[in-house]
Amino acid sequence: MGSRRNFLEKLTVSAVGLPLLYHSNPLFAASEAPYQGPVLKVAIMGLGSYGTRVAEAMKDCKRAKLVGVISGTPSKIKDWQAKYDIPKKNCYNYENFDAIKDNKDIDAVYVITPNGLHKDQSIRVAKAGKHVICEKPMAVNADEAQEMVDACKAAKVHLLIGYRMHYEPKTVEVIKMRQNGEFGKVKFFQGQSGFTIGDPSQWRLNKELAGGGAMMDIGIYSINGARYMLGEEPIWVTAQETKTDPIKFKEGVDETIQFQLGFPSGAVANCLSTYNMSHLDRFFMTGSEGWVEMQPSTGYGPIKGRTHKGELNQSHTTHQTLQMDGMSQLIFEGVQPIVPLDGEEGLKDMKIIDAIYEAAETGEKVAISL
Ligand code: NAD
Repeated sequence: MGSRRNFLEKLTVSAVGLPLLYHSNPLFAASEAPYQGPVLKVAIMGLGSYGTRVAEAMKDCKRAKLVGVISGTPSKIKDWQAKYDIPKKNCYNYENFDAIKDNKDIDAVYVITPNGLHKDQSIRVAKAGKHVICEKPMAVNADEAQEMVDACKAAKVHLLIGYRMHYEPKTVEVIKMRQNGEFGKVKFFQGQSGFTIGDPSQWRLNKELAGGGAMMDIGIYSINGARYMLGEEPIWVTAQETKTDPIKFKEGVDETIQFQLGFPSGAVANCLSTYNMSHLDRFFMTGSEGWVEMQPSTGYGPIKGRTHKGELNQSHTTHQTLQMDGMSQLIFEGVQPIVPLDGEEGLKDMKIIDAIYEAAETGEKVAISL
């Protein structure tokens, strides 16, 4: 494995792109062909817990490679340089990273910082002419998300959101089954997304840095899930908030919200987002001909699920490895995942979150136009 990886790493080429030689070379059987196409050279911004997970997963990528870092902590930069063989010229901090525009060795920056920083950081990356990969939630509201979409369009760079489930094999299988009509007319989706959050001083419980509470962080999986499972865009939302610990969950930081989404076909989704219940990671969907249940449904996996036809048995691969290889293929070859994950898609989730907060606050049914 080590020698194969070394061999593959030596094949890393400029993002300008070489042809996929094995496609036309009969000497290579497709399954054994060494990958010789373009490799997306990525710098990670924010070397925290998820950034570390992505870096580890990228060791197994063949179409993407970690080549740079952006961090405010010099000791972390040093550790990452040693661990991932990152040259000094590809290391930046939050003050000087605009200079990345002159660095031909970096194609894309993956923004993995607290939510409240995503907008400004992503726009700076776009202005430096690099593709932006940004973690979910892409921003803290739809206005910010729209600014990001506009900035990336103006700079002619991709804006992709870290929706790793769009590449997850069991999820992809269920979406294909729904597209093929195997569930009949889908009528109901249930999504439960939550966990018990710890340390009250963390940025996730700080309105300015998080943009909200559980909904921004984990409820978004049920929102995005309702859309890709049902294959429709919601037209209304109702929501109810429960707060049992106003000390930990301050003004503007939601603890638990139940919400309902209505779809043009008449299908409905009933979802729960929480920072104060354990082990909530479950999707259920039913239609006129069948059903699917997934639990866990959006965790790091392996995802487990069954349908009216039996167990889902697609094999598990680290989600972030699939995602980064998939995003490279999207950028270089225009190959889209089964459900898009560009800035416009992220913007739709942000519009829904804005509407959920409005519905929870007013008690009204709020119309959504995506
Ligand atoms: P984290 O706290 O572990 O890491 C955040 C990083 O940002 C740290 O390295 C921190 O030093 C840095 N940072 C820069 N400026 C900061 C500031 N002003 N305040 C606080 N930290 C600052 O958080 P995380 O779990 O890595 O989450 C980062 C992002 O990734 C969030 O947007 C989160 O929603 C997303 N995330 C996505 C997934 C997923 O499965 N797609 C999973 C976890 C987190």
